[in-house]
Amino acid sequence: MTANKVEVDVVVIGSGAGGGAAIQALGPLVHAGKKVLLLEKGPRFDHTQFSGQELDMAGTLYAAGGGFPTADRAITLAFAEGLGGSTLVYTGTSVRPPRRVIDGWKVPGLEYRDLVHRLARFERQNGVDFVPDAKINDNNRLFAEGCRKLGWTPEQFAVNLRGCRGSSLCNLGCPNGAKQGTAYVQIPMAERAGVEVVTRARVLRVAPAPAGPTGGQGGVLDVEVDGTPVPMGAPSTWAPGRWIVQAKDVIVACGAVHTPALLLRSGLGATLPALGRWWTCQPAHILVGEHDRPLTNAVGHPKSFLWEERIVEDRYFLEACMYFPFVTAKNLTGFGPEHERLLKAYERLQMILVLACDDALPDQRVAIDAAGDPVVHYRLTDATVTAMVKATRAAARIFFAAGAKAVHAPSARPTLLTRDEQDRIDERVHERHFHRGAVSVSAAHLMGGCRMGEDTATAVTTPLGQVHGVPWLHVADASLFRTALEINPYLTVMALAEHVADAVSRKHGVDPEAARA
Ligand SMILES: Cc1cc2nc3c(=O)[nH]c(=O)nc-3n(C[C@H](O)[C@H](O)[C@H](O)COP(=O)(O)OP(=O)(O)OC[C@H]3O[C@@H](n4cnc5c(N)ncnc54)[C@H](O)[C@@H]3O)c2cc1C
Ligand code: SF4
Repeated sequence: MTANKVEVDVVVIGSGAGGGAAIQALGPLVHAGKKVLLLEKGPRFDHTQFSGQELDMAGTLYAAGGGFPTADRAITLAFAEGLGGSTLVYTGTSVRPPRRVIDGWKVPGLEYRDLVHRLARFERQNGVDFVPDAKINDNNRLFAEGCRKLGWTPEQFAVNLRGCRGSSLCNLGCPNGAKQGTAYVQIPMAERAGVEVVTRARVLRVAPAPAGPTGGQGGVLDVEVDGTPVPMGAPSTWAPGRWIVQAKDVIVACGAVHTPALLLRSGLGATLPALGRWWTCQPAHILVGEHDRPLTNAVGHPKSFLWEERIVEDRYFLEACMYFPFVTAKNLTGFGPEHERLLKAYERLQMILVLACDDALPDQRVAIDAAGDPVVHYRLTDATVTAMVKATRAAARIFFAAGAKAVHAPSARPTLLTRDEQDRIDERVHERHFHRGAVSVSAAHLMGGCRMGEDTATAVTTPLGQVHGVPWLHVADASLFRTALEINPYLTVMALAEHVADAVSRKHGVDPEAARA
C-alpha cells in the first residue's frame, strides 16, 4: 500500500506546553500564505467525557497509565498523550523561572527579560490568577499555617483557571473545561488562524528531504495514523495508515522523553554526542500527615502554596498537594495493616509534595531500545537522596506544626512518626532508610535531553532551538532545558517554545512581534 503524501511549510510535532505555544506563534504564517500543520500522537478529547475515575482517566490520558518506569524501575515518570499534552493533566501551578537558573544557563541571546515578557503574555492568555482566600481548602491553609508557626514564609502561587468549580480533579483532566491548558487556549487560536491540526498521528522518524528537482529542502516525516477504536477521544481527521509529510521546517515538541527518542531513532545520535543526555526530572514524593478530624483536601483547587526557602542551599522545595487514593497508596512505603489504616484515614490526611532539584549530568539520559522506544537511564544520586531526606524532615515539621498527630515518612524506619517524636525528626528521617526502589518516587517535571547552547559537545540545539548541523530541524519543548528549573516548568517551556517558533517565523519572512502587535 502506498503512503499518502502531504507538503507543508512548517510542521510542529507534539501539542503540549511547548508544541501548543509554538503552533500558536506560527499562526500568522498562514495569513502570509504558508501551510502550517500540527501532528499529535494522542486523541482530541472532549472534557465533558472526563469521568474523574482515577484508574480510567490515568489509563486514558497518561503514557503507561502515569507510571512510565525508568530503566532501573526506581522512579515512575508522569506525562500525558493527547491534544494538549501534559497540560491536560497538569495542576496549572503557574510560576516564573528563577533568574539565577536562566542566567546560569549562559545561552547567548536568551535573555531573562525576554522570557518574562513572553510568559507574562501567556499568563494573561491562560487566565493565571490566585485562588481567592475564601476558596483555599484546609490542606492548603494548613500548609501555610504550619510554615508560619515555624517562622518560615510560605508563598501563594497563581494557577491558570477560568470558571474553576473546585472539583480537585486537575490531574485527571478537568471535567469542567476550567483549566487553561494549550488544548483550550493556544491550539484553538492556531486553528482559528488556519493551522491544520491532526491527532492520533505518531511521527516515527524524521529525515532530510531527498535531493531532486523539487526536493532537497527541509525534512520528511514518516507518520503513522492510528485508526484503532479508543474508549474516549475523537478519531483522526486523516485516514488510518502511513503518511509522508514533507516540510521546509520541522519543530519537534514531543516532550523530554519522546523528543530525544525521536531524534535518536532518526539516526541523529551519531553526530550529536549530547543527544538524550543531561536529563533531569525533579524527583518527588508525596508525604501524608494524619489529623484527628476530616479535612477539605479532595475538594477545592488542590494547590496554592509552596515553600522554597531552602532551594539554593539544600536543593529542594515543598508544595501543598492532593493525590487520589491509588497514587497515595502507591506512595506510602510498606504494606499491611499500617498501610491499610492510613488509607482508611484518607479524608483526615494532609498532603505535601517534596521535590528535589537534581543536577544535570551527562549519564542521566534518554536512550532507545531495539524498537526505537525510549528507555530512561536515570539514577537517584546521593545528593538527590540527601535533598529528599532534608525535604521530608522539613515537611514533617510543617505537618506537626499544623496539628497532625502522625506523619508517614518513607525515609524513616518505622515509617510512622508520632507527635512525641518531633524532637527526633533528624535522627528518625535519614538517608540510611532511603532505599532506592523501595521508596516510591515519581516525577512530572521532565527536562533536558536536547539542551540548547553553542557547544556541540554539550548541547543539541543552537540558542535558537535549531538542531546543530540540521538547518530545517528545531526543538521547542522541555527537552531544551540545560538544568532543572528549580520550580514548576510549564510557563518557561511555553516561553522558550515561542522563542524558537519566532526564529522559524522570521525564516519564512514573518516578523512575529509585528504579527502579535
Ligand atoms: C501530573 C502532572 C502535573 C503537572 N503539574 C504542573 C504544574 O502544575 N505546573 C507546571 O509548571 N508544570 C506542571 N507539570 C509539568 C508540565 O506539564 C510539563 O513540564 C510540560 O507540559 C512539558 O511540555 P512539553 O511540551 O515538553 O511536553 P508535553 O506537554 O508532555 O507534550 C508532548 C506532546 O507530544 C506528543 N508526542 C510525543 N511523541 C510524539 C510523536 N512521536 N508524534 C506525535 N506526537 C508525539 C505527546 O502525546 C504530547 O502531547 C505537570 C506534569 C504532570 C504530568
Ligand atoms: S479544581 Fe478547578 S481546574 Fe481543577 S479540575 Fe476542578 S474545576 Fe477543573
